[in-house]
Amino acid sequence: MAAAPETQYDARLRSEELRSQLNYHNYRYYELDDPEVSDAEYDELLNELRAIEAAYPELITPDSPTQKVGAAPAPTFSVVAHRLPLLSLGNAFSAEELAAWYRRATQLAGREQLALVSEPKIDGLAMALVYEEGRFVQGATRGDGVHGENVTANLRTIADIPKELRGDYPRRFEVRGEVYMRKSGFEAMNAAIGEANLEREREGRKPLALYANPRNAAAGSVRQKDPDITAGRPLAMFVYQVGWVEGGTRPASQHETLQWLAAMGFPVNPEARQHATLEEAAERIAWWGRQREQLDYDIDGTVIKVDEVNLWEGLGVVGREPRWATAYKFPPQQRTTKLREIAVNVGRTGVLTPFAVLEPVVVGGATVSLATLHNEGDIQRKDIRVGDTVIVQRAGEVIPQVVAPVVSLRTGEEREFAMPGACPSCGTAVARDPEMAATYCPNLECPAQLMRLLEHFAGRASMDIEGLGERTAALLYARGLVRNVADVYELTAERLAAIPDFVTKGGRLSKTAENLLTGIEKSKGRPLANVLFALGIRHVGFETARLLAEHFGSLEGIMAASAEELQEVEGIGPVVATSIAAWSGREENRAVVERLRAAGIDPRQQGVIATDDRLAGLTIVVTGRLETMSRSEAEDRVRELGGKVGSGVSKGTSALVVGADAGSKLTKAQQLGVRTLDEEAFARLLAEGRGVLEDAG
Ligand code: NAD
Repeated sequence: MAAAPETQYDARLRSEELRSQLNYHNYRYYELDDPEVSDAEYDELLNELRAIEAAYPELITPDSPTQKVGAAPAPTFSVVAHRLPLLSLGNAFSAEELAAWYRRATQLAGREQLALVSEPKIDGLAMALVYEEGRFVQGATRGDGVHGENVTANLRTIADIPKELRGDYPRRFEVRGEVYMRKSGFEAMNAAIGEANLEREREGRKPLALYANPRNAAAGSVRQKDPDITAGRPLAMFVYQVGWVEGGTRPASQHETLQWLAAMGFPVNPEARQHATLEEAAERIAWWGRQREQLDYDIDGTVIKVDEVNLWEGLGVVGREPRWATAYKFPPQQRTTKLREIAVNVGRTGVLTPFAVLEPVVVGGATVSLATLHNEGDIQRKDIRVGDTVIVQRAGEVIPQVVAPVVSLRTGEEREFAMPGACPSCGTAVARDPEMAATYCPNLECPAQLMRLLEHFAGRASMDIEGLGERTAALLYARGLVRNVADVYELTAERLAAIPDFVTKGGRLSKTAENLLTGIEKSKGRPLANVLFALGIRHVGFETARLLAEHFGSLEGIMAASAEELQEVEGIGPVVATSIAAWSGREENRAVVERLRAAGIDPRQQGVIATDDRLAGLTIVVTGRLETMSRSEAEDRVRELGGKVGSGVSKGTSALVVGADAGSKLTKAQQLGVRTLDEEAFARLLAEGRGVLEDAG
């Protein structure tokens, strides 16, 4: 926790300042649904105030943000008085804090152990729904915990919320849960706002603000005056608690409550789990820490609850937090910071991509000072300006990105961004590719492009040349030794020895240089798909390279093919085909390939030549672990017998061979009604041919 000031006088001043800041942020967050700071920054201010209040309890005021929940209802809506207050949750940020919460709960309950329930902490907004005789009659926001906003008409537009219940239900009761927006729906909605902004920009109108995250988008969408607007927003709900009950009984445990709610037709999160021990719950928390990115909705932690509902009242509430539950919070993924500059990078195909240079901030456990801005259009759509305070996001393994500007913090000094007219690397006037909506440097000898291409050429999925990284590439270029990828194969010990960086103090060739030469030599044996990928042809990713290699079997074959012929390969579309044909048509590229061949790089697909036509016309996919042969052996057998090997299951798949631990391909085959063969049936197919499939229908 943050340290408190040393004197009561300073503490009073600081706490007043913090309260007024926090109240302002509460207003922006809860009433306008348009915060100026990230949750992480808000929580830091709140924690600082908590620390001061802990050291100087006499400074606590009843209306301190540490003592109250949310904000009072906005005048737009009629007010609903909650019969039982809606609370917040205490937080735990470490295993120790979680254990301390558990110790206190067991002590107060007079138990050795307590069964627990874990639930994902949905990052949405809390809602209380009232049902009478099985009908949805009222829905309200949490508001300040005691009074909420009546948003019944808006909630009626959310499909997840049952309007009529099924089975046995109490006469009148209240359920609580979280309204949220799926990430996919949120992205689509922000993308639509972005498109509208392009239009507005053309018309000289003010751009619309983007939502910072799905939680604010959900809150903004539910709290609309016009339910028709809410109806058009992709909202969903999870229900997790029962408030009060009249004319009926409720289950005695949280896990049964969730089952009970689901049986009545409420949307209940399927990821809730019951745990006999704290250790089990902690394992689930750790699992969520790794899995959270897989979900299509944001969670900001895991809620741990005491399973026995009868203990809840006895455990009680401290301030605004119940003692029977706690929220284990994950590190925040968003932060605000200043956008110092928008710089431009030149990629290996010449495309200019802008990126953000930021005042460094710690997000998701790492310091971020650069972030992606995707492309020029994206900057316009989001209305991002140099000098803006921006929201930066870093989620999982994804590279940091600038989500949106904080428009309310603009001073008027911000500058709009324009793409440079000349390539930042070579100064050539840039060109525009309207189809790709990209700006690119047309100079084929542009140093930046070549450097990126060299790095790509040497990469693991390409020629895998150890020792040819960014630094070496720059050095070789600067010394004039490499002007295209074929030059790499003309590097010799003598040539490298002419560069001081590659020579030891004793005058011998350095280890780095030796490794580089060995790496180059070894790379001559790379398979066709890797060589093709290494060439860095626009739109040719590794999967495309693999398909082409399999189909054509050699570089000459691919380079001789017309765009039409290339499109005959399953999985190759017109954009890719045109790009390859254009690349192959250029004299300088043909010269490079010719020189590579002369240097000994002439890969042939380790093609399996069909020796039989027993499986002709069939497309077979193999998945899982086979007992009698490896997967690639199985695939080779199919090819030898004239069959085709598919990489994924589709309607055109003739059969799926299923080994142990098969995954999504099996599910897909079952959905599409594609035949599945176990290993024995596959052996019969190999021995007897396609008739085996036909016999069985
Ligand atoms: P909280 O969000 O940390 O936790 C309590 C809430 O969790 C509950 O009220 C409930 O709505 C929700 N919840 C989600 N899943 C749940 C589940 N399975 N079971 C039970 N509850 C579940 O606390 P809070 O008091 O609601 O709000 C504080 C949050 O709002 C903080 O994250 C804070 O950073 C943010 N905030 C940000 C700003 C800002 O300006 N950025 C301003 C105010 C508040």
